Amino acid sequence: MCAIVGIYGNENAARLASLALFSMQHRGQEATGISSSREGKIYTKKDRGLVSEVFTDEALEYLKGNMAIGHNRYSTAGGDSILDAQPVYAKYKLGEMSIVHNGNLINKDEVRNQLIDNGAIFQTGMDTENLIHLIAKNTTKDKLKDRIIDALDRTVGAYCFIVQSRNKQFVIRDRYGIRPLSLGKIKTGGYIVASETCAFELVDAEFVRDVNPGEMLIFSEHNDEPESIQLFEPEFRPCAFEYVYFARPDSVIDGKNVYSTRENMGKTLASNDNVNGIKVDMVVPVPDSGVPAALGYAAQSGIPFKYGIIRNHYVGRTFIEPTQEMRSLKVKMKLSPMRSMIEGKSLLVIDDSIVRGTTSKRIVRMLKEAGAKEVHFRVASPEIKFPCFYGIDTPNKEELISNNMTKEEVCKYIEADTLEYLTIDDLRNSIGNDRNYALESFDGDYFVTK
Ligand code: AMP
Repeated sequence: MCAIVGIYGNENAARLASLALFSMQHRGQEATGISSSREGKIYTKKDRGLVSEVFTDEALEYLKGNMAIGHNRYSTAGGDSILDAQPVYAKYKLGEMSIVHNGNLINKDEVRNQLIDNGAIFQTGMDTENLIHLIAKNTTKDKLKDRIIDALDRTVGAYCFIVQSRNKQFVIRDRYGIRPLSLGKIKTGGYIVASETCAFELVDAEFVRDVNPGEMLIFSEHNDEPESIQLFEPEFRPCAFEYVYFARPDSVIDGKNVYSTRENMGKTLASNDNVNGIKVDMVVPVPDSGVPAALGYAAQSGIPFKYGIIRNHYVGRTFIEPTQEMRSLKVKMKLSPMRSMIEGKSLLVIDDSIVRGTTSKRIVRMLKEAGAKEVHFRVASPEIKFPCFYGIDTPNKEELISNNMTKEEVCKYIEADTLEYLTIDDLRNSIGNDRNYALESFDGDYFVTK
């Protein structure tokens, strides 16, 4: 998961990078960092915590310069060390470089072991560090650009990288374009590259275009506009899960507004829903991720939309749950039922996805304890049966409830009266059936091979 940003050619580069990271906080809340370049030197500040906590005025004062790259880190199991925060910085033969990365390299262990066999030492568990070593150990090329290209030849997976030297930025999106990356022009000068276009609003940038799959963009003082090199033959497979859950609804990913795709998912669910004479009183979203789909469902079905569950916004996605007792409290702290509205009523509850099934089980139970007569659960994505190895943090196969149980068993487990999912075809149609989406969590097609 994670968010990356690059700002080039603006005297407030680090400040703009911090604003962009702030608007992409949903992509990672564990740690954040920015590297700026000025007068031939790279300055880095990174720490655990939220963007608003780490980038104080003092920190931004230190990060002067007209170019900066930044990163928000998503917490994944085990890797919560500050060393795993990005950007990753290194001094090497050609000078200094700093790298940010969103995605997941599937051949990381193989490359890392080869590097270790040849004497490399690693400081972190991050696959991003592979790229640093591959660039630094290249003895045949004396230009950073060529070294990056050589390093990418040995890099397989889903990635968006930004490599910053003392005076250039290199932006690369993998040949499949799995993770999103867009280019914008900042009104006060210079360019922005960011994981999501929602970052453009806050820095006052106009969307220019998406970075193409397999493309490298180079920002340098020699060119007013970024230089583009098509490094790899594109095989476009954008990630469907960005639309389902991960991206912010106001972002436009590869030409599609995320909110509209979610609304379509809800409409499609409603069109195919066979409630079989069940009288449903209201459509209730699981806030916030289920809201656009629930609005779509309500519009399509004519069933009234009601905020039957209220969300407390002070519980973040990174809520620490040290004990089972605290874990059980989590849903209650985050979501609260509107008793007076739901008492004695039959609810059609919509969420974006079921992963382990723990959240939906607690929600159904909470609604029934609050007096709901029936809870019909609808999921605006297909059953998640396979882990994602392309940059979305999913648990291993054994923990995925739909890998272990049929739809009927899941329905029983979460204590719902009925349960329906979107089919894979309907998901494709809801986003726009003009692309070959990455759907591996739903269909197990692990297509990344080179
Ligand atoms: P659960 O079924 O309890 O594992 O959690 C499902 C809920 O977590 C869904 O309602 C989503 O809103 C949210 N979710 C889905 N995928 C992820 C993810 N990769 N990381 C964090 N939350 C997620």
